[in-house]
Amino acid sequence: MKDMINILPENVANQIAAGEVVQRPASIVKELLENSIDAKATEIKVLVKDAGKTIIQIIDNGIGMSKRDASICFDRHATSKISNAKDLFNIRTKGFRGEALASIAAISHVNLISKRHGIELATEIAVNGSEVKSIKSTVSEAGTKISVKNIFFNIPARRNFLKSNNVEFRHVINEFIRVSLAHPEIKFIFYNDDEEIYSLPISNFKKRIINLFGSKTSEKLVPVSENTEILKIDGFIFKPKYSKKTRGEQFFFVNNRFVKSAYLNHAINSAFEGLIDSKYNPSYFLNLEVDPSSIDINIHPTKTEIKFEDEHSIYAILRASVKHSLGQYSITPVLDFDRDKSLDIPYDFEKKSKSTTVGIDINTNYNPFEKNEVTEKFISIDSFNKKMESLEFSSETNEMKEFNFDDLSSISNSNNSIQINKKFIVNNIKTGLIIINQERAHQRILYEKFLKSVTLSKINSQKLLHPHEIEFSKPDIKILNSRKDILNQFGLDFDLGDDKIIINAIPSFIDSANMSQSFNELIHNIKNDVPDESFSESDFISKIISKSLSIKNGKSLKVKEQQYIINSLFACKETMICPFNNRTFVKIDFSEIENMFK
Ligand code: ADP
Ligand code: MG
Repeated sequence: MKDMINILPENVANQIAAGEVVQRPASIVKELLENSIDAKATEIKVLVKDAGKTIIQIIDNGIGMSKRDASICFDRHATSKISNAKDLFNIRTKGFRGEALASIAAISHVNLISKRHGIELATEIAVNGSEVKSIKSTVSEAGTKISVKNIFFNIPARRNFLKSNNVEFRHVINEFIRVSLAHPEIKFIFYNDDEEIYSLPISNFKKRIINLFGSKTSEKLVPVSENTEILKIDGFIFKPKYSKKTRGEQFFFVNNRFVKSAYLNHAINSAFEGLIDSKYNPSYFLNLEVDPSSIDINIHPTKTEIKFEDEHSIYAILRASVKHSLGQYSITPVLDFDRDKSLDIPYDFEKKSKSTTVGIDINTNYNPFEKNEVTEKFISIDSFNKKMESLEFSSETNEMKEFNFDDLSSISNSNNSIQINKKFIVNNIKTGLIIINQERAHQRILYEKFLKSVTLSKINSQKLLHPHEIEFSKPDIKILNSRKDILNQFGLDFDLGDDKIIINAIPSFIDSANMSQSFNELIHNIKNDVPDESFSESDFISKIISKSLSIKNGKSLKVKEQQYIINSLFACKETMICPFNNRTFVKIDFSEIENMFK
């Protein structure tokens, strides 16, 4: 009988392997990014068109390839990352199977240009469906530039299985986020159809999270950190109240590789037990570091599944450390986690100057009796435009959707607000009315001003013509003393006597009229840890001061003061809620009013 077994030709074998490695454009993006990272790139550019269906291009400044390496990198099992079976147990690179480029080249048109540092010429190779079309020398920068076009051109069935551009794009972005989160030490730039989507500077893990998910993320994060013999954990969870019904941001990285693990996810869920409804999912960004020989990442070609040698202990440690962080966060609201101070503050940190001098800038010309400040603080077109920009950004999070900021164009110059019940400011807008709670709005305004000024290390302090003395009990003086330095940074300059304080200067945007009351409140709030959810000391103090020094409900306001509140509120980054998460304003549409008369 005739023999029946054939050895498949290399290109067919590659196509079959490609089925496992390359499911969609996103898989190619992932593999190429990983190659650039393995090549020690510090800057990686990604360009995709039509969600990667037309072209995916990755440009890195990594070590590049020699002519010989470039000419064999598309062969199956061509890898520089391991050389024998023993190495399989100590993998520190992303790749090691040597099949990504072979698989990608089997189902697309690839062009690769690569040059090692210090070598004059680059090598350029074109491969179509595993077939090398050309190899030549060319001029290029050191590093590697790879373009992958016409994915699945030779497997129409697979091409037809690709989903809409929107869906495929989402997959591409997800891969990009996973890889870039795991490597904040690398600069990433991402273009989609010539539009820059992300530009991520070299930073740290927290900043990378914020750069990817928006500045508001900062206040949601609680750090998790644990160091044991078998497992090191480092990362963040979201405060329980930010849990989502949908599986939101859930990221495990094991030795800098994104992994999926239902088992570890379960550990986190159980740590959150009792804190969130079972329908909600906690969000987390956790880096786990283990001895590479204690894990097996070889179980799936895309290497997102993982097997731990000591699964049970990993589970227990993870659960315990998340629980610990949650506990710390709710029991002791103000912890100094020894982090980059500028990151405590979601405002303008990118503008923060390098200088470390934190000083009070005293305006000696200030005359507290000359009160023409308020009028100057009307929202400028410039800040209004900025507002609009930032809104576009935050509208992604759905938090702003209920309010159309177009309506505000009509506010900025109008003087037709009224105050009702000494508590609410009512102003008409294009489509209806807004009603603002004056105290909460002012808290928001002050809170943002403080955070911003502290971030920029620049609080404009006004020296009082006559230092203001207030009597206090000894314990209260002690409390103030314990916070003197930070209050000082916030522009509150005071001396402490045995039973009194002498106030010399206060931030320029604070009304000096109610100083005694404000300081009383300040002490009361510090004593009682009033913002019970603060995350950093700067945030805590900003909240306390904004609460203590804000205009109170019950105070009648002149039209100018009302206008100041309206305009400053809508120049804030967050307008809808006060620092204590209560609504600052409501909006009533004319249509609703019309309905009331039906
Ligand atoms: P693996 O990553 O598993 O080794 P790949 O097929 O992804 O296999 O890549 C094959 C080899 O080509 C790599 O081992 C590496 O030596 C080289 N290579 C691929 N991409 C790059 C790159 N961007 N820069 C430098 N070398 C690269
Ligand atoms: Mg690889």
